[in-house]
Amino acid sequence: MIFYSSSYSNLDLPERHRFPIDKYRTLYETLLASELSSLLLLRDDPIDVSKIRLCHAPDYVDAFLTGCLNPTAVKKMGFPWSPELVNRTLISLENARQSALCALKHKWAVNLSGGYHHALPTAGAGFCIFNDFAVVAHDLIHQELVDRVLIFDCDVHQGDGTAFLCEHNPNIITCSIHCEQNFPRSKAQSDLDFPLPVGTSDTLYLNTVHEALDLAIRLYQPDIVLYNAGADISVHDELGLLKVSLQGVRERDSIVLNTCLKTSLPIAVALGGGYQRNAERLNQTHNQLFNALLDNLNNLV
Ligand SMILES: [Zn+2]
Repeated sequence: MIFYSSSYSNLDLPERHRFPIDKYRTLYETLLASELSSLLLLRDDPIDVSKIRLCHAPDYVDAFLTGCLNPTAVKKMGFPWSPELVNRTLISLENARQSALCALKHKWAVNLSGGYHHALPTAGAGFCIFNDFAVVAHDLIHQELVDRVLIFDCDVHQGDGTAFLCEHNPNIITCSIHCEQNFPRSKAQSDLDFPLPVGTSDTLYLNTVHEALDLAIRLYQPDIVLYNAGADISVHDELGLLKVSLQGVRERDSIVLNTCLKTSLPIAVALGGGYQRNAERLNQTHNQLFNALLDNLNNLV
């Protein structure tokens, strides 16, 4: 199933704000007109806040929920605070959790949001407030639904917050493939890191994804993969420094989906970053995930 909420794009941002908040609604509308429309699931339930506290400091959680963050913290987070921001954040997290539960039952699921991998234990950063995959991974293990989770992060930016939030849990494996020159300037240490040079294009990128995923699965034998399908690896992304083509994005998503689906390893996907100013091209780039999904689902039948 593909989880969506109208709250994802329901955020009033200043006119020149850098985050393309409409991309969620645009992608939803594209999917509504596609072969995948019957798999869309609209869900607006907020997450139980106690689950966020498994990962994030209670003081930070409470300050965000009540609008009491200081101006420096709000600036670092990247979004002006509003009740709508709280609403979309809590719904995104619950849908990330639901998509993982759905994947455990039905092999795969996608949340049309998420990938908020810069969120740190005590602060938001880089358009990320609470770290959806870290929260979900801790919750799955806390509930004893799985023994081991692999967070496989292919966004162009390193999953630094995820690495920090999961470093003390040996049952959560973090793997990040990213551009070494991109934000964040000082990198954290994931269990597996694959920094790539500026300008990396399809061949090296796709070989790295293949090898990294095979290695992570072979070494750690996860029970579920949480996959950040960031579209900011695109050659056209103004905030990413890699040069992966549109076809390369589709192939990457296909490699990850195929590796999991063919061995019945459950996979829950988050949309991740994607910042192209050209909204149509950004939508087309994120939509490669669903082209890859269709390819793989057709092959499974
Ligand atoms: Zn990113």
